[in-house]
Amino acid sequence: MLDTAQNRPDLPPEVARRRTFAIISHPDAGKTTLTEKFLLFGGAIQMAGQVRAKGEARRTRSDFMQMEKDRGISVSASAMSFDFGPYRYNLVDTPGHSDFSEDTYRTLTAVDAAVMVIDGAKGVESQTQKLFEVCRLRDLPILTFCNKMDRESRDTFEIIDEIQEMLAIDVTPASWPIGQGRDFVGCYDILRDRLELMDRADRNRVAESIKIDGLDDPKLAEHVPANLIDQLREELEMARELLPALDPQAVLEGHMTPIWFGSAINSFGVKELMDGIGNYGPEPQPQSATPRQIAPDETKVSGFVFKVQANMDPKHRDRVAFVRMASGHFKRGMKLTHVRSKKPMAISNPVLFLASDRELADEAWAGDIIGIPNHGQLRIGDTLTEGEALRVTGIPSFAPELLQTCRAGDPMKAKHLEKALMQFAEEGAAKVFKPAFGSGFIVGVVGALQFEVLASRIELEYGLPVRFEASQFTSARWVAGDKQAVDKFTAANKQHIAHDNDGDVVYLTRLQWDIDRIERDYPDVKLSATKEMM
Ligand code: GDP
Repeated sequence: MLDTAQNRPDLPPEVARRRTFAIISHPDAGKTTLTEKFLLFGGAIQMAGQVRAKGEARRTRSDFMQMEKDRGISVSASAMSFDFGPYRYNLVDTPGHSDFSEDTYRTLTAVDAAVMVIDGAKGVESQTQKLFEVCRLRDLPILTFCNKMDRESRDTFEIIDEIQEMLAIDVTPASWPIGQGRDFVGCYDILRDRLELMDRADRNRVAESIKIDGLDDPKLAEHVPANLIDQLREELEMARELLPALDPQAVLEGHMTPIWFGSAINSFGVKELMDGIGNYGPEPQPQSATPRQIAPDETKVSGFVFKVQANMDPKHRDRVAFVRMASGHFKRGMKLTHVRSKKPMAISNPVLFLASDRELADEAWAGDIIGIPNHGQLRIGDTLTEGEALRVTGIPSFAPELLQTCRAGDPMKAKHLEKALMQFAEEGAAKVFKPAFGSGFIVGVVGALQFEVLASRIELEYGLPVRFEASQFTSARWVAGDKQAVDKFTAANKQHIAHDNDGDVVYLTRLQWDIDRIERDYPDVKLSATKEMM
């Protein structure tokens, strides 16, 4: 077993010990609770419950946030760092609601692995499956936590089968639950031959761990009722026959997921999962970029923006660009080159997201996430380097599935509206298209709820009441091709042409038929539903 951070002696030790991951789950499976326990064991907070309490205090500060709370969705993502054992963990929070899938997708470009949390009574749910598919696109390693084992849950084999079948991934048990529901006593740690007993009395206490010499060890009988020992022996024997053994390489390649069983609220199984992420999860991975890949152990610093969040603190009109470090040893005050504009930027006040409070970051290594406050220079997809013209690739923008026209309640305020919309476009919260003909803006989103979110944010943050109205268009496609072909195409289709916030040409229509026709009639023009952000 790999029990130290030394599995990659070729990497700088600070890089080798980093584990950057996100949690994917269906709402209610226990992501928040698990996050709290990670932070608790990581020493980042004194008492579990603080994450939620703080989050709620912050949320009540505005109506928009109130809406977020009412709907039970989290619009804002953040990053948290903590240490546990030899490892430094960077947990990047993914927005949980299906309406925000694009944001989630981009968040997943900033991590090296994902922890999939499922509810033991419910198994694989719709949102879990969607998020899993996104992880699969990048072959992200996935570690699974089956939560709520303190309650009546499904049969262990059934849960494992369901994951294997619905997600087409090999599942290997890292632990095995003993007993069910009220009779649940704990887990057998298969990887370390230990008995982990759950303490129902104190939810924040770490489970008792007893070293066991195989299943015939008499110590087992001191802690587990005889009927459950028999059942455990039988099930483990079956598991050994029917399920694959842990293959660390297959885990790293994303073909196999180890599963731990536990109860986040009872702090049970959480440390084993954390050890698992450390021992079997990947260290910071190379980053695809053009004209060349970036290796995490390069001495020169580089990083890329995967998320921009505006108005995190309503008192300050700042934006924070979340940057995933791809290489090097970053130190506060460093001057980096903003590759898109070729301008130098002094990064004097970066923030590291330790627990739920912002803290100034003094240094960061490949794998870390830092927040850079700025006034709008930093956009999603931007690369920062020590001078080399590298551009990180693979951060897409998706064509919106819903389009509406946005108008200011007061027509005199059109300029203000443009400013507000451009800000949200840069944040990645919406696509904004300015039609070549006519006035107004066409706003595109992935989920209908986002129109409401946008309307309340524009009113709240810009004091500007707005209306969203049905648009004559329903689809948007980016137009690519050589200039001559594109010019000819746009001249012949003016009524359908708009520009996005980067100035790129977009074709708007309400008919798939139109898109098919253009592909036929203009072989030199490519209509695309995604665009690389860079
Ligand atoms: P999220 O929506 O995935 O962030 O889920 P939460 O962490 O907010 O949990 C949803 C609900 O499940 C809350 O009421 C939690 O208290 C509860 N919960 C979380 N973990 C457990 C667990 O291990 N056992 C039980 N019984 N309930 C849990």
